[in-house]
Amino acid sequence: MELTIVKNATCTFCGCVCDDIELHADGERITHTKAACVLGTSWFKNHTAERLYPDALIDGQPASVEDAIQAAADHLYQADMPLVYGLSNVTCETQREAVALAELIGGVIDSHTSL
Ligand code: SF4
Repeated sequence: MELTIVKNATCTFCGCVCDDIELHADGERITHTKAACVLGTSWFKNHTAERLYPDALIDGQPASVEDAIQAAADHLYQADMPLVYGLSNVTCETQREAVALAELIGGVIDSHTSL
């Protein structure tokens, strides 16, 4: 299989937007990264054009988006200190809504970069 090399690729995973990454791909997936951190490397190597997951999961089982939203709302309503967490690879509008949700439910917010 032919190897493709892309220089100066941009990573959009955490928000730092590193734009000096070199990627090696074999036609199906990215096989090697240069200059990406561990998060960026994982993101590039584990995202393919394949559809790997269902639209939503509840307790690890496939579920409808509607049921997953209801389950999330139930968890947040019952939580003593709800945490809105994640937010990598999402839009500014999504982050804005997440902050609004955290304020509405009296929770706290954090991103995966605190790892
Ligand atoms: S995840 Fe790493 S490589 Fe990607 S933008 Fe953030 S710091 Fe850069």
